[in-house]
Order: sequence, then structure tokens, then C-alpha cells
Amino acid sequence: MPRAASPQLSLFGPEPDLDVVINWGLGVDSSAYLARMLTAPASHGIDLERTAVLYMATGSEWPETRLLVEEFMLPLLREHGVRFVQLARNGHLQQDGFTVLDDSRCPERLYARGAWTLWEDLESVGTVPQQAGTRKCSLWAKGAVGDWWLTQVFGGRPFRQIMGFNADEEGRRFGDQAASKIPGRTGEFPLIDWGWGRRQCENYLLGRFGMHWPKSYCTFCCFPTSMGALPTHLERMRTHPDIAGEVLRLEYTAMSLNPNARLYGRKSLLEMFDPSSRRDRACLEAFEHELDMPWALYHVRRLFLLTADGRRRPVMRSTERLDLGRPQQLARRLASTSHSHRVDVEHDPVYGRARTWVRPRRTTWPMAEELFATAPARVIDKQDKGFEQEWHALLSGSTRQPPLA
Ligand code: SF4
Repeated sequence: MPRAASPQLSLFGPEPDLDVVINWGLGVDSSAYLARMLTAPASHGIDLERTAVLYMATGSEWPETRLLVEEFMLPLLREHGVRFVQLARNGHLQQDGFTVLDDSRCPERLYARGAWTLWEDLESVGTVPQQAGTRKCSLWAKGAVGDWWLTQVFGGRPFRQIMGFNADEEGRRFGDQAASKIPGRTGEFPLIDWGWGRRQCENYLLGRFGMHWPKSYCTFCCFPTSMGALPTHLERMRTHPDIAGEVLRLEYTAMSLNPNARLYGRKSLLEMFDPSSRRDRACLEAFEHELDMPWALYHVRRLFLLTADGRRRPVMRSTERLDLGRPQQLARRLASTSHSHRVDVEHDPVYGRARTWVRPRRTTWPMAEELFATAPARVIDKQDKGFEQEWHALLSGSTRQPPLA
């Protein structure tokens, strides 16, 4: 039975009988480590009585990964009586708390999601994972959840945390040590110590279970391009047109409010599918099906401001839903008001988006951007703190009136 808790009011306390935690992301590397370690735990420095395997559910793992985990790995955990703890977030904010979806030495199932998923978090604000900088999505969906549990359970007591970084990514060992902020924690990297790279891990799982173990990541992850695995990723989408359709909707919604919000930086997922190919067409048809839902007309404003000493501040945004309806009806409303203000409307004749730029983005900061756009009605009203004051401060001399004001 899942148990929810807020960080302020925890249902969990220190566990003196525990001193090792193994992070399991369900993928090739950490699964290979687990499977091999369980052949002889003591010789790998593991006392299973004092160890827990930790998994943070993001909510969008590929179905084949979940299947393989339930088919091969959970029976292994059950056979060895390994304690398996499954966690997830309850909401966008830290104060919404977290849930222990399961905590068992006889795990029967893998929980695919908690009360609030990364997908819901992204779609509700009309965005996609960011390629640049730190993987904030991963820190939000996994790092913060795991750290919360570890802090409750260890309360500053020394413990070892085993990470499944493979020997091809040795640099992550140093990144992990630098990022580790939990008192008492010591990170360990056995795959790096064994010299097991990706290939060895794949081969081990293939030999052990007779199955090729696919990569584990969220279906909408933007990193397959940077890992040089885009063709494999697209092929995976083609085998799941329903998933492709959903991910296309996530991207299309985000790009309606911000044309730069392509999943893969310079390229969008949508432009990677070829409508003349039968398999790609199935993905595009699933996308059209996904768009068959209520749409909304949004007023979006962004501020690109500088600090007093001229550095760029984080972009501020205000998103407001003005109307709900069918895409054609909203596009007509936008067109008629824009026309009377002599503002052009961009219209996507294939998938239905309409958009008007009142203040297009320029290239020099500080600047303001303002647009009206139609999109699937999944995005909530949201405004950064202090937005209106900053908006008026920047545009105090402007006389321009938006068409739908
Ligand atoms: S798999 Fe990709 S989208 Fe999911 S949390 Fe990790 S980096 Fe973010």
C-alpha cells in the first residue's frame, strides 16, 4: 500500500539496520550490476540484510523496460529477499511531499508512476526537458525524491550509496562526488571499478537472461540525440505509435507557446517523421488523435532582463488562458481580432495552431516578448513572482496594445 508523506510531516524515521543503498534506474548498467552482485553479494561487499535497492518512478518509462524488470529482475530480488523501495513525487513543489509506492522484500510489481509525474509537470507549464545545463528534470523527478528518503532514513548517519555509472562514463564519478550534499553519504561506483563499460553490461544481461536490455529513459527525453542514439530512439517510437503521438503532443503544445521548445534543440520530433512512410504515418495519425481534445487560446509574455551589473537573469514568464474551444473556432477568434489590429496570424494548416506575435523576440537583452497562441488545453495559468511590476517597468514608455487586451 503506497504511503505518502510531506517533507515537514514525515511518516518515516531513522533505520539503524540499514547502511547500503543501491540506486536502480532499471536500465542496462544498474541492472547488470544488481544481477551480477546477487550471484555473490558478500564477495561484492554487500550484506543484503542491511541493504535497500532504491527506484524513483518518473512515470514515463518505456513499456519494454518495465516488462523486462518484472519478468527477470523482480523475481531475482524476491529470490534473494532484497529490500526494494519504490518512490515518487506527489506534486510540483517539494512541500507537496513524496510517496513510498512500495517497500518490500518480496516485490510483486513495478510501480510505473506516482500521484504526479514529470510529464504532467512539464505539460502543465507547456515545456519540454531542457537540453542545456544540468538535467533539472532528473534532479526534480529522481534526485530530490531519493535525497528526501535518504535523509529521513539515515538522518546524517554514515551510509554507502551504490551508483550504476559504467566505466565509459568515469567522469560522472567526480560529478557525483561534487553534487553529493547528504551528510554521511559515500558514493561507490562498482561498474567503473570492474571496468565494465556499456557493452560489457549489455553482454552480461544478454548472457544471463537471453534478452537485449534496452536503454531506460523517459519516452519524451531530449537526450537520445546527444547520446548519438536518435535512430534507435525513433525506431522505438515507431514500435509504439501511441507513445509517439503523446510525445508529439507534448512538444507541439510547448512549441505553440515557444517556437524554440523543440525536443532536440535545432530539430523537433515532428519534423523527424516522414508522412510518406507507413510506419511514420501511424505515429502522425496517433498525434492527430492526441490533438482531438479541447484547445485553449493563451496569452504568453516573457521578460528577458539583466541584473544591475549586466548579466542575464532567468527568463520570466506569464501564461494566461483566455478561452477554451475547438482549434478552428479559437483560430477564427484570434484572426478576427488580430486583423482589426493589423497583426498577422500564423496558421498551421495541418495540425491547427494559430499564433500572433504582438512583441516578437529580438536578439538584444533586455527585451519583452508577447504572443497569443492556440494549443491543446493542458497548460495552466502561471506567472512568475513580480512579473507585472517588471513588465510595466520595462515597457512603461510603450503605447502598443495587444489585440485581445
Ligand atoms: S530520462 Fe531524460 S527526461 Fe527523464 S528524468 Fe532523465 S533526463 Fe529527464
